[in-house]
Amino acid sequence: MSPLDLKTQLGSLIKLQTIDSEIYALRLEKESKPQEIKVLEQSFESKKAHMAELEKKSLDLQKQRKDKEGELAQKEEATKKLQGQLFSLKTNKEYQTMLQQIQDSKADGSVIEDKILGLFALVDEIKVEVDKEKLKLSEEEKAFVTQKKKVDDRIKEMDDRLSQLESARKQIIPEVEAKVLSQYDRILNSRDGLAIVTVKGNSCGGCNMFVPPQVINLIKMYEHMITCEMCNRILYIDESR
Ligand SMILES: [Zn+2]
Repeated sequence: MSPLDLKTQLGSLIKLQTIDSEIYALRLEKESKPQEIKVLEQSFESKKAHMAELEKKSLDLQKQRKDKEGELAQKEEATKKLQGQLFSLKTNKEYQTMLQQIQDSKADGSVIEDKILGLFALVDEIKVEVDKEKLKLSEEEKAFVTQKKKVDDRIKEMDDRLSQLESARKQIIPEVEAKVLSQYDRILNSRDGLAIVTVKGNSCGGCNMFVPPQVINLIKMYEHMITCEMCNRILYIDESR
């Protein structure tokens, strides 16, 4: 087998670079996906937590109301007991004192009653809020599931495209000598997925650094691979245009 000439190999590297640039971009995008999913999950979790908090507040208020109702029943019982004692009293003074006690006890009872009414209103209020939030949360859950599915679908799509690109890559690799390929791969990994660039006018297509005419002549001789002094990328001149 005749050795592959450098000009042809550089042409193959350019084809490889097109594939590798897409691979690089896809991998970069893919790496950002877990974080994207995490943000969606955290946002939905915090909405769920807010809902749980509201429900807890609602239960607390209901418990407070029940407690107050118990307190009121006790107070009413106490008032009744005082009223029962009223007629067994002997002096008018004792009678008056007891009447006062009964009145105080009734007043205490009505204070508790007011609190219960206030709690009823609060419980109703929070129930409206809970119902509203529940509706909102179910909408948000749908949105969350949809968004997450969109990300998952995109990951799947990227994986499919990546395996297509990998097999396209495998087809080009035999067109390049191992030594040339390993230099290309090394630059690819250290230079953000861009290893070979076209010289445009008099500047490097990778870093825009000026490429002197004598270097351009060297590139056109195709004796050695010529790299940019600044960014180290392989320089290529498209002579088909
Ligand atoms: Zn450069």
